[in-house]
Amino acid sequence: MNKGNIRSKHSQVNVIAERCKGCNFCIDFCPEHILYVSTEMNSKGYHVVDIGNNHKCTGCEICSMICPEFAINVISVEEEPEEKRR
Ligand code: SF4
Ligand code: SF4
Repeated sequence: MNKGNIRSKHSQVNVIAERCKGCNFCIDFCPEHILYVSTEMNSKGYHVVDIGNNHKCTGCEICSMICPEFAINVISVEEEPEEKRR
């Protein structure tokens, strides 16, 4: 098998800052404990959630499903093969 063609997937979590109301549901329910309250504040005065380590995200989408404001979406990202990164 050609190792250069192997792609690995991980998930990327995107937070729409202006929708976040700082309820922390996503933080409480993330099984990997990688979401946290950032110092960034949106225009409504809420501290916006951020993600610590995207690579630990399993892509379970619990954060996305539980967010009452539809402020989080999770996408699957394919990483470039080793050979292309060089
Ligand atoms: S669940 Fe949604 S609204 Fe609540 S803190 Fe997380 S991103 Fe913000
Ligand atoms: S998709 Fe799952 S593991 Fe990733 S941040 Fe959301 S709840 Fe956590």
